[in-house]
Amino acid sequence: MTTTVSLADRLAAMQASIAEAAHSAGRQADDLTLIVVTKFHPTSLIRELSELGVRDVGENRHQEAQAKAEELSSLDLRWHFVGQLQTKKARQAARYAHSIHSIDRERLVDALGTAERVTPIEAFVQVNLTDDPGRGGADPADLETLAEAVLRAPALTLRGVMAVAPLPEEEHPARAFERLKQYSERLQRLDAHATAISAGMTHDFREAVAAGATHLRIGSAITGNRPYPA
Ligand SMILES: *Cc1c(COP(=O)(O)O)cnc(C)c1O
Repeated sequence: MTTTVSLADRLAAMQASIAEAAHSAGRQADDLTLIVVTKFHPTSLIRELSELGVRDVGENRHQEAQAKAEELSSLDLRWHFVGQLQTKKARQAARYAHSIHSIDRERLVDALGTAERVTPIEAFVQVNLTDDPGRGGADPADLETLAEAVLRAPALTLRGVMAVAPLPEEEHPARAFERLKQYSERLQRLDAHATAISAGMTHDFREAVAAGATHLRIGSAITGNRPYPA
């Protein structure tokens, strides 16, 4: 099947580029988790990824993620939720999410915090790297308050910080990710285990790796262009 071959090729090429970026930054490729962001793509593509050895997949819309996780529940996948999560959907997301990268307000922590879980959800506090409050992510000034709330929540375990880079014309990703690294250091003063940095997408993963990212969220470079949202 040609689609399998090309998906395999794109995955292998990305894995090689990540290894190269790690090497250039004096880091080990093994310390990086590649999350393949599969939003808008059909479950057939996720099945192919799973056959290629991918375990970590990312989605940004609850309804879509829930349906996919249910359909693919027999596969050994970890579902990473990377999009805006409505408070009223939080407990539903807690049923399938291995991790939530978009913890951006206390109300969301409260809603997730008492969910019934066998193992806690890995929580990333999303920080806004721009001055535009509409961009998603908490104001960096609220980082500690939010992290303290996560630390008190039984169903959550604090893993680290997450961010989406500003648009390239607003700021170079390397500069923005340096700030993210400082936020990560602030978080680790509260909890030495919260070392993860979720950053880096198709167009800025090299800068993210150079700035210490541990979880890369890569979509289109691997999956190809996204189909038009349903
Ligand atoms: C879509 C998405 C990605 C992946 O983006 P690509 O540019 O396709 O690699 C990463 N993170 C978040 C939060 C996303 O919504």
